[in-house]
Amino acid sequence: MTTQPYTRVLLKLSGEQLSGKFDSGIDSEFGAWLAAEIKKVVNKGIQVVIMVGGGNYARGAQLAGHGIQRVTADNIGMLATMMNGLALADICNAHELPALVITNIKADQVADQFTHRRAESHLAKGRVVIVAGGIGRPYLTTDTAAVALALELDCQVVLKATKVDGVYDKDPSKHKDAVKVDQISFQDALADEAIRVMDKAALGLALEHELPIIVFNANQADNIVKAAHGDSTGTLIG
Ligand code: UDP
Repeated sequence: MTTQPYTRVLLKLSGEQLSGKFDSGIDSEFGAWLAAEIKKVVNKGIQVVIMVGGGNYARGAQLAGHGIQRVTADNIGMLATMMNGLALADICNAHELPALVITNIKADQVADQFTHRRAESHLAKGRVVIVAGGIGRPYLTTDTAAVALALELDCQVVLKATKVDGVYDKDPSKHKDAVKVDQISFQDALADEAIRVMDKAALGLALEHELPIIVFNANQADNIVKAAHGDSTGTLIG
């Protein structure tokens, strides 16, 4: 599976990814390694937009209940993405990768508001644009927000960073003979209940607009640049 090199990519980094060797919070040492990996992409002249998740602190669907309303829980989840975005931007800048956070929830004191114009302007200057706050509304996850943002900013692909090598024909934790698939159609990915690596809402939106998604292992050296460059890695959904 080899695709053409892209010129602008959307990298979806989950909170779990940023927590590295820890169970929660941010692993800044791992973050520095990630920044160096992302720099390889920028050095190839490929523009990078990052949508950060917040699951290392809070996920709305899990937090809601016992009095916490779903909307409140999702707001907490979005604030969690803000913490990750702020940390990641600092880590990138400290490792000579110019980056900044813009946010879809209003938080003037800590980050500029997301606007299309602002994002385009930073990207044109070679900066990594980290978007926090998802899409700024509840009942969504950052996977779906990532697809929406990729469409808004004309990214040619969504690179979904995970700790696994891609999509398998059956659950690899239950089946020793599970085989990784190089490519799967949106329709098959949507229909297969066992595929949970990406939200169905995100897949549906990507299908509607024919935006390819690459699910890949970002914890292996050179995999982010390989995925961004269109070299074979992970699973292409599209
Ligand atoms: N969230 C939201 N709207 C959005 C994006 C995220 O309400 O547009 C909330 C939602 O509660 C979600 C949480 O923020 O669970 C953290 O995002 P996510 O679960 O996608 O993080 P990840 O699993 O990628 O770390």
